[in-house]
Amino acid sequence: MPETNVQEKKLIDCKECDGNCCRYIALQIDTPETPEDFDHLRWYLAHQQVVIFIEKNDWYLQVNTPCRYLQANHSCGHYEKRPQICRDYGWDEAGDTECHGTDRPCDHDEYFATLEELEAYLTRKGHVWASLKLYPNVIKS
Ligand code: SF4
Ligand code: SF4
Repeated sequence: MPETNVQEKKLIDCKECDGNCCRYIALQIDTPETPEDFDHLRWYLAHQQVVIFIEKNDWYLQVNTPCRYLQANHSCGHYEKRPQICRDYGWDEAGDTECHGTDRPCDHDEYFATLEELEAYLTRKGHVWASLKLYPNVIKS
């Protein structure tokens, strides 16, 4: 958590937040295209504390697990040596706030916490995610 994430343009008051940005990691993943790709995402979502989201057409894998340095008072216990991404988080390149920690909803276009949510989305989009090749005993030709 940037303890005081201050910039001239706007102010994020981290002290009003419970350290939301220190409670997960999120990695961009390849945009899935094939039934095999979709099946991999289903495997991710079979695990606890894993979610997938789409933001501005990019897909992300998020693992909800708190940083080992996050303190009980929501401050950073590794502040002087915290990674660069911790220092940068909260601001985009234009210097505008991108933090979702306090009073703004997330910018996710889609958010999947379960296999069923992902499957419903893929079905809605007309994707073949459960192919005969993958599930010959489940799907009848
Ligand atoms: S190192 Fe500090 S700022 Fe970075 S995620 Fe951990 S607690 Fe948060
Ligand atoms: S989520 Fe935002 S407000 Fe909360 S600690 Fe992180 S940067 Fe500060």
